[in-house]
Amino acid sequence: MIILSEHQVARVQAHLARAGLNEQLSTELLDHLCCAIEARMTTGESFDQALSETLKSWPIRQLRDLQKTINFTTKTKPMLYRASAAIALVAGICLLSPFTSVDHSAPLALDHHDHSSDYAADYSRFDPPTASPIAGVDMKAALSSGFGMRKHPLTKRTTLHRGIDLKAKVGTPVQATAPGKVIYAGEDGNYGITVRILHEDGYVTAYCHLSKHVVERGDRVILGQEIAAVGTTGQSLGPHLHYEVLKDDVPVNPLALVD
Ligand SMILES: [Zn+2]
Repeated sequence: MIILSEHQVARVQAHLARAGLNEQLSTELLDHLCCAIEARMTTGESFDQALSETLKSWPIRQLRDLQKTINFTTKTKPMLYRASAAIALVAGICLLSPFTSVDHSAPLALDHHDHSSDYAADYSRFDPPTASPIAGVDMKAALSSGFGMRKHPLTKRTTLHRGIDLKAKVGTPVQATAPGKVIYAGEDGNYGITVRILHEDGYVTAYCHLSKHVVERGDRVILGQEIAAVGTTGQSLGPHLHYEVLKDDVPVNPLALVD
């Protein structure tokens, strides 16, 4: 029987985290996905093969839809409300459609407003998070453990260190390294008190072993906003900030983004 390693489970978890699911659904699906991957691996597939095949059947969009459906059906809304919401949605789509909202009898030249500029910001590429999670502290100067394969200080097993460790005292404010939406804020096993933020372009940042968080799941945050305080919760040897950046579910070296 094949059982996924902690790191492998974390990769599946990161995929679910990107969809911003609630804890209960996320836990249920994590179990389900891990079982499906293990079953594939038993037939000889590598972890990476099994992971990508399994995730193909549960893409982020579908997970979000699932969450929406569950939210919608679990809330006992009167039928009238549901119907009016549906009508409002259809009306909204019609308004957005260029074929119904544009008056074709008017000469095009009269339309002085350049609509492309309205959406310009939406199409600009999102810059990867490069700010330090601790205001005024250079990540390289405060580095106590780098990204990559290392012998775990507690388990003594060689595993991938998915982020970087920064020296800091308990209570030091931790800030968002890019604008985004909080998708997790709370206790998370070995990670201790953790905040995860979803950014544009498939980036997720994680701030771990915190003493407290001052944002909640669902909050929108701006670059440099205080989100938590350094601590030593979870599997930690002493006060420090474990900081991760994931791009499309894959942990990347936060310092490599700065260079
Ligand atoms: Zn660490």
